[in-house]
Amino acid sequence: MTEIRIRFPEGRKKALTLSYDDGDSPDARLIEIMKKNGLKGTFNIMSMLFDLPEDHVKERMRIVKEAIFNSDNEVACHSYNHPHIAGMIKTGMIQETLNDRLRLEKEFGRMVRGYAYPYGSHSKEVEEVLEMCGIAYARTVHAHESFVLPQNWYQWNPTCHHNADIMRLADRFLNGDPASAEDPYLFYVWGHTFEFNHDNNWNKIEEFAEKVGNRDDVWYCTNIEFYDYYQCFKGLKFSADESIIYNPSATDVWVSFGGTKEPVKIPAGEIVKRG
Ligand SMILES: [Zn+2]
Repeated sequence: MTEIRIRFPEGRKKALTLSYDDGDSPDARLIEIMKKNGLKGTFNIMSMLFDLPEDHVKERMRIVKEAIFNSDNEVACHSYNHPHIAGMIKTGMIQETLNDRLRLEKEFGRMVRGYAYPYGSHSKEVEEVLEMCGIAYARTVHAHESFVLPQNWYQWNPTCHHNADIMRLADRFLNGDPASAEDPYLFYVWGHTFEFNHDNNWNKIEEFAEKVGNRDDVWYCTNIEFYDYYQCFKGLKFSADESIIYNPSATDVWVSFGGTKEPVKIPAGEIVKRG
């Protein structure tokens, strides 16, 4: 048997995504930096902010909404009120999750399936509630400083917070070259955009975005795009000897066979036979 591994769209071996929490006006500045460099990501919003009456909060959320609308980024849940959700009773967890999802879907007019744990507050019980509420994945705050793919979608650990040594990690990411029998790389950065103002370090993310952005060998995706593509890979059907591959999904999927050089495209809805 050959080792069969996922490859990203167009056969790429590297993907990069960002995830920013809370929904704050500096999100607009980050989104501009992302656009300029071809990066994509996910903005996790506590949607209670859309229901507060204060003028400055209304203005904050107007800016956030407009910036996300005028981009290709994902909107995702972060609970409605931003509680330490793992300590709540179950009905509270359900309300926090479902109310957030309903509110964001109403506000943005699109489906919302992603999640980031508020304060990183996580438990097995919260995971169960998220799944019941139709959440596909949930991001933690546990950085692993590597480029491994997620093993558990409800404990999706990021590569790093943006205050880590991201330029050194960027070098490792760009210079690395996974072999055909190895998993591809995912570089996943998270944070809050107010931190750039607080720490006065917008230059850090600008330099990072310029370094890793606008490259042909990296797939820039939102969290949910990554998740959905991975599900299409997992949905491929193989004959017992792995010579016939069927892709029942509506998305072209690329795979790598150990020992071979080029990844193979398995077109949406098609059967591919390997000689
Ligand atoms: Zn938060």
